[in-house]
Amino acid sequence: MKCLQVTKLISQSQERKLKLAEKCGVVSHLVICPQCRNFNQNCQTMRQMMKKFAKEE
Ligand SMILES: [Zn+2]
Repeated sequence: MKCLQVTKLISQSQERKLKLAEKCGVVSHLVICPQCRNFNQNCQTMRQMMKKFAKEE
């Protein structure tokens, strides 16, 4: 899987559940690619912040 596909799937995973195959592709890519790992981390931090904001409102 290419970085572009992986980052796309990561963003999509915020809105929908990924298929098992997609998830596997993403996870196995994250193991070898520090950049996408970084991107994934940022996305998760962002998501948690959003959740927190949503709760406070
Ligand atoms: Zn990558």
